[in-house]
Amino acid sequence: MKLDIAFSGCRIDRADHLRGDPAALGALMTHHARLLGMEGLDPALTADGELVWTSLAEADPDGELVFLGVEDGRACFAPVPVSANVGPPNPRLWQALAAVSSADLAAYGVARALVGWHARHRFCAQCGGATVLTKGGWQRNCTACPAEHFPRTDPVTIMLVEHDGNLLLGRQPRFPAGRFSALAGFVEPGETVEEAVAREVLEEAGVTVHDVTYVASQPWPFPSSLMIGCHAIAEGTAITIDANELEEARWFSRAEVEAAMAGDPEAPFIAPPVAAIAHQLLRWWLAR
Ligand SMILES: [Zn+2]
Repeated sequence: MKLDIAFSGCRIDRADHLRGDPAALGALMTHHARLLGMEGLDPALTADGELVWTSLAEADPDGELVFLGVEDGRACFAPVPVSANVGPPNPRLWQALAAVSSADLAAYGVARALVGWHARHRFCAQCGGATVLTKGGWQRNCTACPAEHFPRTDPVTIMLVEHDGNLLLGRQPRFPAGRFSALAGFVEPGETVEEAVAREVLEEAGVTVHDVTYVASQPWPFPSSLMIGCHAIAEGTAITIDANELEEARWFSRAEVEAAMAGDPEAPFIAPPVAAIAHQLLRWWLAR
């Protein structure tokens, strides 16, 4: 089935061949070029919830710009903020993003992840020297040593764990009241995706899983994750939660998941929001 993966499907051609060609990039920086309106890491939005594009004349002459790519023959840039709040977006931003079209959301997601990375990587992780933006913003080079730095994407596994037709879902203390979602955790160095899924489920819920399969993925620019959606089969139903990670974990029947996804006020939990891949994984599971 076709899943609605938020932050995917960016229509801007990334035009990788232009990134390493300063002359070609310079030639694109005309009055035709577009500059994405941003307030720090947040998007400037019109009253209708559309991204605001201005011209390079609006750019801070002392600021850095990243080259997002080319759309409809026009080069697209985004400004790097002077400082970056790396925390998650505030509830007001979430509300505003809910009204943004999927294409705009995808373009914003690319910009946010990339400019946020620049704002946090002004100094070399190897020697502490100052770094400078290069390759149109898809790389930073150290000015004091030969180190080259590239925008990070951090893999996170997020998984539906199934046993005998029931699903294991959990809630973190920071979730809104009633919300349950798929368990999730960062992939650690030296792990496969399958191993990360099994480790996270065992750590967080005390449940042993096997037969891990990939379902779908989602870029998540808060600040730079790639959510890797998986499905796994549990060997048993006994739960021992890690109270540092989860407030509660429970098994839900298919009917209960259906009720939650339908927004039924009698449902035993509130489903994750549509923009989260957990919501899309639950849709996938119900449609199987
Ligand atoms: Zn260095």
